[in-house]
Amino acid sequence: PYNGPIADEVLRKRKQFLGPSIFHYYQNPVNIVEGKMQYLFDESGRRYLDAIAGVVTISCGHCHPDVLNAVIEQSKLLQHATTIYLHHAIADFAEALASKMPGNLKVVYFVNSGTEANELAMMMARLYTGNLGMISLRNAYHGGSSAALGLTALSTWKYSMPEGEIHHVINPDPYRGVFGSDAHQYAKDLQDHIDYGTSGKVAGFIAETIQGAGGAVELAPGYLKLVYEIVRKAGGVCIADEVQSAFGRTGSHYWGFETQGVVPDIVTMAKGIGNGLPLGAVVTTPEIANVLAHKIQFNTFGGNPVCSAGGLAVLKVLDKEKRQEHCAEVGSHLLGRLRALQERHDIIGDVRGRGLMVGIELVTDRQLKVPAKAEFAVLHESLKDLGVLVGKGGLHGNVLRVKPPMCFTKDDADFLVDALDYAISKL
Ligand code: PMP
Repeated sequence: PYNGPIADEVLRKRKQFLGPSIFHYYQNPVNIVEGKMQYLFDESGRRYLDAIAGVVTISCGHCHPDVLNAVIEQSKLLQHATTIYLHHAIADFAEALASKMPGNLKVVYFVNSGTEANELAMMMARLYTGNLGMISLRNAYHGGSSAALGLTALSTWKYSMPEGEIHHVINPDPYRGVFGSDAHQYAKDLQDHIDYGTSGKVAGFIAETIQGAGGAVELAPGYLKLVYEIVRKAGGVCIADEVQSAFGRTGSHYWGFETQGVVPDIVTMAKGIGNGLPLGAVVTTPEIANVLAHKIQFNTFGGNPVCSAGGLAVLKVLDKEKRQEHCAEVGSHLLGRLRALQERHDIIGDVRGRGLMVGIELVTDRQLKVPAKAEFAVLHESLKDLGVLVGKGGLHGNVLRVKPPMCFTKDDADFLVDALDYAISKL
């Protein structure tokens, strides 16, 4: 049994010693002390079904034995040395990661987070093209550093900072977007931004294929193909932010961008790649990677032996346990059950997503799509009281996000849907 500090004490210390901008979920926040695969345990030993995976970070499962073992064995031998020496772990991991990429995406830079990965990708785009302008989508989240905040387009997270030349184009959101699922109209808006708002040349375009923090918004079908062509014509490179949608989570494909049939010039990743380890990566072509060769690009911890050993173990586990197929199967069961629930509850305005990357948007009026913010807060808290932890997303904070560890089962999905059904009926 756990006999460490309890919730009240942790909360008091957080308030006193940590910055005021960090936030916690729930009026009565949970004090999580242990994790095992798709479950979390609080201080009293109560079990919760984890349907948000530490914000889409736990891929294999909490404390997965193979990943844990790789980390422990490497830690006993050597924790850190940096790339000024040779070590096999970073080389093995880069080789394994490159083998998962299509086309000529074969060169890896390791960093420590998604924010850093996007910073580096943006820097490469600008250096490679000689242009400054970056294009991202409204409703995107690409990180919290001052440069990545420029790409991020959700006011929840933004401070007023100098951002460089960044254009936020209309989000190709099939549910709320002004053009519905018409990818051509959205692509035209991007072309307009280039024609009217730039010199005609841009450095690059970045997008998540399924927006994470934005509330599991899957881009209108065909959109990426159209805009990749436009951006490349304007001299830019195309960046896929795969921080949340990678490694088979979408079920149908290993990488999110594959669902739109495109091959990016640069791919960024983090979160699930480390199953909880601080790890990020940028993968690109030898030609683009080469723009950094005239200086030294050094990252003290990027690809360190422990993270690399853990990351390699993650890739192996996901293959060995056939998690992509599993996500497809469990995801379609979950979506099917949620759509049936939608037929019975008017508050569910939209059910969307792919595999184990699902969003449930709550509205008070289906026609007007008024965000059900107050109801969201009640439901989110009561799901927790019923033993299910889900995420929150969207500009209005009215989207329940279901993105569990990829070992989540059909029984878990049933439990979640039954709990949601019950909680809605009690509203
Ligand atoms: N890109 C996406 C799509 C993300 O969801 C996030 C984190 N929520 C980031 C980038 C930034 O990652 P990190 O928090 O590891 O810096």
